[in-house]
Amino acid sequence: MLSRRKLIQRLSTMPLLGGVLGGLPPLQTALGAPQAASRNLLKELGLRTFINAAGTYTAMTGSLMHDEVLETIGAASKEFVMLDDVQTKVGEKIAALTHAESAVVTAGCFSAMTLGLAGVLTGMDPKKAEQLPHLQGTGMKSEVIAQKGHNVGYNHALTNTGCKIVEVETIEDVEKAINANTALLWFLNIQADKGKITHEQWVALGKKHNIPTMIDIAADVPPVENLWKFNDMGFDLVCVSGGKAMRGPQSAGLLMGKKDLIAAARLSMPPRGSTIGRGMKVNKEEILGMYVALEKFVNTDHQKEWKMYEDRVATIAGAVKSVAGVTTETFAPPLGNHTPTLRIAWDPAKVQLTPKVLQENLRNGNPSIEIVSEPAGISLTAWMLKPGQEKIVAARLKEEFTKASV
Ligand SMILES: *Cc1c(COP(=O)(O)O)cnc(C)c1O
Repeated sequence: MLSRRKLIQRLSTMPLLGGVLGGLPPLQTALGAPQAASRNLLKELGLRTFINAAGTYTAMTGSLMHDEVLETIGAASKEFVMLDDVQTKVGEKIAALTHAESAVVTAGCFSAMTLGLAGVLTGMDPKKAEQLPHLQGTGMKSEVIAQKGHNVGYNHALTNTGCKIVEVETIEDVEKAINANTALLWFLNIQADKGKITHEQWVALGKKHNIPTMIDIAADVPPVENLWKFNDMGFDLVCVSGGKAMRGPQSAGLLMGKKDLIAAARLSMPPRGSTIGRGMKVNKEEILGMYVALEKFVNTDHQKEWKMYEDRVATIAGAVKSVAGVTTETFAPPLGNHTPTLRIAWDPAKVQLTPKVLQENLRNGNPSIEIVSEPAGISLTAWMLKPGQEKIVAARLKEEFTKASV
């Protein structure tokens, strides 16, 4: 029997084969190669899929990529290019779209923060990049100042560089905390209302003391303007997730900011090895896919999308409110995950159901549905629904509430 390779070699030298052996199945099938398109791995592996009425949660695989992004990934995967060249070209386009001096695609917002700070610490010295995360005796700075209310766990991205976090509450605290070791002033947008110091004051403090400022806006688009608002405001580095509302690859994000800092951050990025960023590789497919997702997001009619999400939420609210004792409230979180959100509560005397049990019932139903359970009810969003799924969510919720009614 011919080996597969030999067969392919022979076939390739016989251009008329198709004509001679007309009626044979397509080459792929003839060679017994699996046809990717007809294979459903989610089914094959027994993976539960679900209607995502919860939101852009990392654990739920973030968001679904647009077809344009997937097509870009597919097409890009068929050629070799230099990794640095893709980052440079795409970075220029992203910078232009976001009013930044420069930009680079990172392995998510978390990695954008680590790499951005790495650049602040090392400057353009590759030896220093190799020394991270060991700062002692290197002459590199070692402290990041953050507001106490912003310290919610994501700043592990910053301590990954070897830096420690110095917590502050007031402007006076910042003035006192700043010293020769201060590398960065870090701001977490989604917790802006949990701190006493505003965005503008934070930027002003950085400028006054000549210390770079960084902002984490991971889940904070829409509004689309946030992509440039903080660059315009004067933050030196801006970090955002690509795989949340922007629907780029889940493992991609953007680091935007000052030209010298982005160039320095890239010293700690692949293809360079012996760096803390070597494991934060982003492939060309993701880099290009991220660019296309960003471009699409910037060009989206966000008012129209908002209205669509509101309509979907209204459909669900209308259905559940028809059950006695069930009440709803529609709101949009102002700082992050800014999308029409429905909170559903119920009178336990009229509907005998706990939020956790309701969540389990929806999860175990067919189709499976994910929502968010809260202490006093549930909440849900409509931006990750496929068209029409709001009707299924509405019907299932109404069914569960009706069943539990007394
Ligand atoms: C999601 C998130 C991150 C991490 O972003 P990735 O893109 O998943 O790396 C960081 N900070 C905040 C506030 C987030 O919500």
